[in-house]
Amino acid sequence: MSTSGPALGVRLPSPLTELYDDRVAAHGVRLFLKRDDLIHPDVPGNKWRKLKYNLAAAREQGHTRLLTFGGAYSNHIRAVAAAGRQLGFATVGVIRGEEHEPRNESLAYAAGCGMTLTYLDRTTYRRKSEPAVVSALVDEFGPCYVVPEGGTNALGVRGCAELVDEIDIDVDVICCATGTGGTLAGIAGGPPRALGFAVLKGARYLDDEVRRLQPFGANWSIDHEFHFGGYARKTAALDAFVADFAQRHGITLDWVYEAKMMFGLLTRIAEGTFPSGTTVVAVLS
Ligand SMILES: *Cc1c(COP(=O)(O)O)cnc(C)c1O
Repeated sequence: MSTSGPALGVRLPSPLTELYDDRVAAHGVRLFLKRDDLIHPDVPGNKWRKLKYNLAAAREQGHTRLLTFGGAYSNHIRAVAAAGRQLGFATVGVIRGEEHEPRNESLAYAAGCGMTLTYLDRTTYRRKSEPAVVSALVDEFGPCYVVPEGGTNALGVRGCAELVDEIDIDVDVICCATGTGGTLAGIAGGPPRALGFAVLKGARYLDDEVRRLQPFGANWSIDHEFHFGGYARKTAALDAFVADFAQRHGITLDWVYEAKMMFGLLTRIAEGTFPSGTTVVAVLS
């Protein structure tokens, strides 16, 4: 079956555009944006790339229902709900923590796509990959293809690796924001150096996770200094950065992920981390 293109209306390859910024040019660096954020209105690029081969596998295995996991503001939950509706899968979203009424905008959107929402307390949620937890969910909701949190598994990594193949310029470094590590693991398989900016605080386990997902990737690293207090946390400095970037470039960066990456990247460039002549591609998702 075809899960790319027409059925969902995903526009790939995503555009690659140069960002002209004095702070970058001053160091002899060229910076391009890989606009994965533009490929679909409801399914951000990295989320689609991670779902693509998982949905094909679900179909092949004869499944008609997807079950997945995420926080109450998860872009992945939204993406699975949207993709499921458009591609004809029933969907179940297993949400971390307690149910709150009224639903926030993300969960209202997912429910509006027909997703069944269910909630796991934080302790059980931490054990969500254990067979006992999964089989209890299958007993409750029926046979289903289980997509891990963030879509991050071997098939998700394979989908993200295609991002590198789409880049048709000579690139030295590819950067992305890092949440579960799936996108970075995909990028880390290509020859350019891969650099992830962790959006969670003290998330050193991400290095092991990327190593596990991409055992042959030798040229990657994670910068852990730009989490701004932790996942979905921010500071006045980050808000000011987003506003300034929008004014300079007409692009409003998503503050949970992309603003932290871009802040980190521009800081590292300003510090002279990248030699003059380096070409960097930053993925916006
Ligand atoms: C999910 C997400 C990421 C992080 O991707 P991981 O593969 O989980 O590390 C980055 N940017 C945006 C906008 C996202 O929604």
